Amino acid sequence: MPTENIKLPKNPQPGEWRSEDLSQKYIASYKPFNFVDGEGVRCSLYVSGCRFACPGCYNAAAQNFRYGKPYTDELQEQILDDLSQSYVQGLTLLGGEPFVNTQVCLQLVDALRARFGHTKDVWSWTGYTWDELMQETPDKLELLSKIDILVDGRFLLAKKDLTLQFRGSSNQRIIDVQKSLATGEVVIWDKLVK
Ligand code: SF4
Repeated sequence: MPTENIKLPKNPQPGEWRSEDLSQKYIASYKPFNFVDGEGVRCSLYVSGCRFACPGCYNAAAQNFRYGKPYTDELQEQILDDLSQSYVQGLTLLGGEPFVNTQVCLQLVDALRARFGHTKDVWSWTGYTWDELMQETPDKLELLSKIDILVDGRFLLAKKDLTLQFRGSSNQRIIDVQKSLATGEVVIWDKLVK
């Protein structure tokens, strides 16, 4: 097949996709007490809306910003109550795209830190690469500054590998956010096996 016919995800300009323009504050799903969205037992919030349009997206329905239902204070209280279980390691943000739903994600992460400090960790997936996020809007950088682990980059069918930990294609990285921000370069999660 000629390479020009191979569909690829979209590439936004810095600041092109703004949460305040795009987010409808909808969520596709909430999955408490799961073992697959990061390390340990986790509570996972899947926000609605993503413009990367990766061919082969694992959750294509959630690309629609109006998919699912509105995020509510009641759901946030439920998530915080679920996180209070001692066996829960932390919160995971997925989508859709968490970084174009920063109103929802920042509200929840701030509430988590207020109640649990750093006794619970926060993982997030994003279609943005780390370098792209470094050029992004203040709300995205604020969310990044408040999370522990970031799985970055689009899903690329040509690099699909189902044997990888917590990611679908080999271009994606599991990044230790706080170490990366402190050193100014991407530091990979120190528990990476593959
Ligand atoms: S970034 Fe994630 S949610 Fe968005 S289209 Fe790609 S795989 Fe789907």
